[in-house]
Amino acid sequence: MAEKRRKGREKSKTALSRRSFLTAAGSGAAATVLLNVSPIAQGKTFNPDLIRPPGSLTENDFLTKCVRCGQCMKVCPTNAIHPTTLEAGLAGIWSPFLVMEVGYCEYNCTLCCQVCPTGAIEELTVEEKQQVHIGTAYIDRSRCLPFVFDTPCIVCEEHCPTPKKAIWFEDVTIRDRDGNEKLLKQPHVDPELCIGCGICVVKCPINDPAAIRVTSGGETRNPANQFFLSTSPYG
Ligand code: SF4
Ligand code: SF4
Ligand code: SF4
Repeated sequence: MAEKRRKGREKSKTALSRRSFLTAAGSGAAATVLLNVSPIAQGKTFNPDLIRPPGSLTENDFLTKCVRCGQCMKVCPTNAIHPTTLEAGLAGIWSPFLVMEVGYCEYNCTLCCQVCPTGAIEELTVEEKQQVHIGTAYIDRSRCLPFVFDTPCIVCEEHCPTPKKAIWFEDVTIRDRDGNEKLLKQPHVDPELCIGCGICVVKCPINDPAAIRVTSGGETRNPANQFFLSTSPYG
């Protein structure tokens, strides 16, 4: 009887390990199929909201290597890194991306580059990381205080961490509704200098959404994902 039970257990173990093997093989094959058919993973299209941590590989390589362990999410000091739902397509579910309504990429930090166990995020020095563009900021002139409410504000420029500020001001003289002249500084983003860190988004006094925002356009890891069309004055 005991012998019969032992054989029964061994049989069900074998069936289970065969099932696990088939499930794992099936999941792997499904992931490969998803990677092969996903236009985002293939670099044929780009999601402006998909801002990957600095040092991330090109999308297909990133998704192949990232094991969704969440180490980068745990270690980010500003809590900027969160798991995707469908921002990276089905192939990218639960992979890390930056949500700049929550946090930003700290200029002197390289923690996610250091902890990633698979190399999906490359290990970079602080100096190397500071050269990486994870996206590009743009001003929403329909929300920015000096543009829309004739109210002085220089918060984004004050926080911009690049040595030569990516945000610069144009001095303009406007007339208020009573006809009085007023001098204002209106901000502009230099896309060549902006690294897309997002601190300007977090610090902007306009909420929901901020008057300055970052998209993935211009990210270093995907040269095809450009902020400008090739006919732009920036080449
Ligand atoms: S490098 Fe930026 S994204 Fe990565 S952990 Fe540091 S602050 Fe977060
Ligand atoms: S640490 Fe690396 S492998 Fe882990 S979730 Fe982040 S990117 Fe993926
Ligand atoms: S995202 Fe904003 S703060 Fe960061 S470099 Fe660009 S303009 Fe400066």
